[in-house]
Amino acid sequence: MSPVFSNCLMTLRVPVGVMLDEKNPQKSRCIRCNTCDGFACLVGAKSDSQVVCVDEAIKNPNVTLLTNSLVKRLETDSSGREIKGVLVERNGSLETYSADLVVVSCGAINSAALLLRSASDKHPRGLANSSDIVGRHYMGHTNSVMMAISKCPNPTIFQKTLGVNDFYFGSKDFECPMGHISFVGKLDAITLKAGAPVIAPNFTLELMAKHSLDFWLTSEDLPDPNNRVSIGRDGKIVLTYTPNNLEAHERLQAKLKQAMKQTNCSIHGHECHQGLFARNLYVGQKIPLAGVAHQNGTIRFGHDPKTSALDANCKAHDLDNLYVVDGSFFPSSAAVNPALTIMANALRVGDHLLDRLGAASATQSRNQELVSTGD
Ligand SMILES: Cc1cc2nc3c(=O)[nH]c(=O)nc-3n(C[C@H](O)[C@H](O)[C@H](O)COP(=O)(O)OP(=O)(O)OC[C@H]3O[C@@H](n4cnc5c(N)ncnc54)[C@H](O)[C@@H]3O)c2cc1C
Ligand code: SF4
Repeated sequence: MSPVFSNCLMTLRVPVGVMLDEKNPQKSRCIRCNTCDGFACLVGAKSDSQVVCVDEAIKNPNVTLLTNSLVKRLETDSSGREIKGVLVERNGSLETYSADLVVVSCGAINSAALLLRSASDKHPRGLANSSDIVGRHYMGHTNSVMMAISKCPNPTIFQKTLGVNDFYFGSKDFECPMGHISFVGKLDAITLKAGAPVIAPNFTLELMAKHSLDFWLTSEDLPDPNNRVSIGRDGKIVLTYTPNNLEAHERLQAKLKQAMKQTNCSIHGHECHQGLFARNLYVGQKIPLAGVAHQNGTIRFGHDPKTSALDANCKAHDLDNLYVVDGSFFPSSAAVNPALTIMANALRVGDHLLDRLGAASATQSRNQELVSTGD
């Protein structure tokens, strides 16, 4: 990293969920290709929910996965405390399912939309929404991609393995948190075409991509009740968002620009980088769905039913058998990628559900059996 940053920054290894075995490359499931960031893995080597959870779970005879199925609405019994029907549009027809426990996990925008769409006499503002919290406090991070063109080529295939948190909690000249710096997987000519700055004369997009250092900057956006998901009169989802905490992000960008300033590159003996150029991806009303990758916060959890929709176990305060387990439970977004926190919480709530179903002890003794038989 020393040739990249002129001054002394502490780099950290970013956790990457891939099944890469560097000690034994022939047997490694991950082949370390150049389409990891933002694409599905065609050899099933990403530790994503399909590979690690769904494909494993459906091997069990008591698990059924319904595909091409859109949950349209949740219906309660006459008390309004219990979900009694899950209305699903499947292959063009409506079907109703029921269960003792119902876990909604549609992502922060669609889960909020589902609850809002499920308004009824008992829940006039939307299901689980006596607090009027559902849909509010939408967050998605303030993100930007910044790129430096280096005179030297950057042959890295996948560079999203290093990060810098030196400014995460602030700095001497700015006491507030600024955020996290890491690399983007690797920009290529096709990605650059979408917003290539005219920066480097005589550089084609392909050449620029070969010489670029591509940074991903994340700052926390703060939970604002007016940033929200709602349902329009035509039934479509409406996302209303005004960016906030932008000074933190601008200062983070300035810190990175400063860090990229070089006198002489320690390897090549001259100044390598042509400069730092922004390809801003601020989430705002003008940004299409692609800008909501880090959506979270719309069904926040908490202890007080007046200020949160879910309790500490992610059960709806207003209902006895409804859980929401996805990015919507976040009360704040932090300034790091959200997926690992979403997964950790899902495992935590999963343990709670096992307890509630009385299955925890059965699972424990089965695990013990597996250990003792060496399976
Ligand atoms: C291109 C891209 C790159 C990303 N890279 C990273 C990264 O490097 N690191 C990181 O931490 N995060 C990353 N993220 C963010 C991460 O993928 C999300 O934070 C995470 O997947 C959200 O998990 P979730 O369970 O809340 O929702 P999702 O993973 O979105 O799952 C919701 C599921 O519900 C389904 N669904 C929605 N509505 C309905 C309905 N009504 N009926 C039935 N099914 C429904 C959807 O089809 C989807 O399968 C990235 C996101 C994108 C788009
Ligand atoms: S997509 Fe990612 S996980 Fe899959 S082989 Fe390529 S680098 Fe490995």
